[in-house]
Amino acid sequence: MAAQRNHSAVLVIGTGLAGCVTALRIAEQGIDVKLLAPAVERGSNSALAQGGIIYRAYDKDDARRLEEDIMTAGHNINHAPAVKFLAEEGPRAVDEILIERLEVPFDRKNKTHWDLTREAGHSSYRILHCADHTGNAIMECVYAAVRSNPCISVCEGCVAVDLLTSHHHSRGMTYRYQLEDQCCGAYVLNETTGEVETMLADVTVLATGGAGQVYLHSSNSRSAVGAGISMAGRAFARLMNIEFVQFHPTTLFYVEMQRFLITEALRGEGARLFAGGGDYFMERYDSRGDLAPRDIVSRAIVDVLLTSGEPCVFLDLGGVKQDLAARFPTILQSCLERGIDIRSEPIPVVPAAHYFCGGVLVDLRGRTSLNRLYCVGECACTGVHGANRLASTSLLEALLWGKAAGDDISATIKSGLDPCLRLYGEIEDWKALGDERNDDPALIAQDWATIRNTMWNYVGITRTGARLTRAFEELRDLSRHIHEFYRSATLSRPVVELFHGCQTAYLITQAALRNTNDLGCHHRI
Ligand SMILES: Cc1cc2nc3c(=O)[nH]c(=O)nc-3n(C[C@H](O)[C@H](O)[C@H](O)COP(=O)(O)OP(=O)(O)OC[C@H]3O[C@@H](n4cnc5c(N)ncnc54)[C@H](O)[C@@H]3O)c2cc1C
Repeated sequence: MAAQRNHSAVLVIGTGLAGCVTALRIAEQGIDVKLLAPAVERGSNSALAQGGIIYRAYDKDDARRLEEDIMTAGHNINHAPAVKFLAEEGPRAVDEILIERLEVPFDRKNKTHWDLTREAGHSSYRILHCADHTGNAIMECVYAAVRSNPCISVCEGCVAVDLLTSHHHSRGMTYRYQLEDQCCGAYVLNETTGEVETMLADVTVLATGGAGQVYLHSSNSRSAVGAGISMAGRAFARLMNIEFVQFHPTTLFYVEMQRFLITEALRGEGARLFAGGGDYFMERYDSRGDLAPRDIVSRAIVDVLLTSGEPCVFLDLGGVKQDLAARFPTILQSCLERGIDIRSEPIPVVPAAHYFCGGVLVDLRGRTSLNRLYCVGECACTGVHGANRLASTSLLEALLWGKAAGDDISATIKSGLDPCLRLYGEIEDWKALGDERNDDPALIAQDWATIRNTMWNYVGITRTGARLTRAFEELRDLSRHIHEFYRSATLSRPVVELFHGCQTAYLITQAALRNTNDLGCHHRI
């Protein structure tokens, strides 16, 4: 059977906030967009967001203070123009897209005032939220707009396997001898047919989200295996800051794989951390106490746990003045389902891998170092976060860069971007590497266990040269082994995810080993 081969003006890979906003901006200009959406149960980090999205405080001069807060959290290795762009243009994008166009029902204090909240590292109340399910509320409105736009064709059950480039995938020599490489689409596994399709595109956008699932404990959705990093790395697009993995200090300590997040907004509203014997330890670690940035709080918790030998610390909600059922209904309900009533007892918490500060290097329009490839959202490195992310900046970054990339792509196409028809003719279809039906769940589970344990123990919150070297060696061997496995297996989603996850873990480890500084999320001793 001949492999499916098709062409679109724009191919967007990933249906989180960043991918959907990019697709919407382009489609609203009447340009056709193909949007890849893996199976629904793989989820997205966007829909999991609880705390909120940065907007603007009621006091004057908030953009400047926001810039300062972001730079402080990022240990001043942020890209200052990107921080300025986010602080100045971000709130306008919230107005234009989320409030006016999509009518997201953010909480209000009254008819004229939003109910703004605050999180760790913020010098003012500037965060919009929908109770504690902000991401879900935003994504419901975004999906409704995507579904009703006739220029967007959503390809469900489609998983990107690799980017297509003129240097790597053209048959003849003409394109291989050109100095500049260019992206012209992706190989995509269609889970319904089991076929790998050749999706050619004039412009390709990576929007595959984060990589938390390469760690043993993670707050991320199941889809966050670093697919974008792995594909961009293989295509030689420039990656940046990928050793900076942020750990969230407070996820529910409970027996389950995907850790349920306990939003920082609770500490913003007065909750305090304490260890077993009633020791409210945060003041000892930072003058900002419980509202210190995440890297500091996560490390303080690990330090307290190592000293005490306890498995978790606790969050005391006694100082929260708000009605928990009205302001934090998702957390209340989720904890009740696990036998913890947060109205009368503290919440047991531990840190977990949460956010990927680095990624594929992009400029203010989302362009990468590879021609015709854009990247938006958590898999991109805009430079906003530097060595550590300030809470609630990432939804805004996904929104703003989705808008900027979408507008740049529309303008480029409208000004006459040529489809590379000759090049498309030279691109080979996917050749099935293997025919063994060996996506055995036991083999895949064991390889994932090795990746996740290695990353958690050796490339986690506290890193040392010896730990990183050991991780590098183990992941290098595993990576070779998985490559062989990949070459002999019939392709399936679990095999593709394992391949992406292993490559990403290996890349993170290499970057962490190279960086001998101790900075922000990269805590090296
Ligand atoms: C529990 C939790 C709470 C958070 N709370 C907040 C908050 O309050 N405020 C804030 O600003 N940020 C928060 N964040 C971070 C924020 O949600 C994310 O950084 C942001 O939503 C990322 O958006 P995205 O579109 O880049 O990625 P995602 O929303 O993760 O979307 C990525 C998409 O790519 C798809 N995909 C992945 N691999 C492939 C592939 N190979 N082929 C095709 N598609 C693929 C996925 O299925 C998914 O649809 C939170 C994150 C988590 C996990």
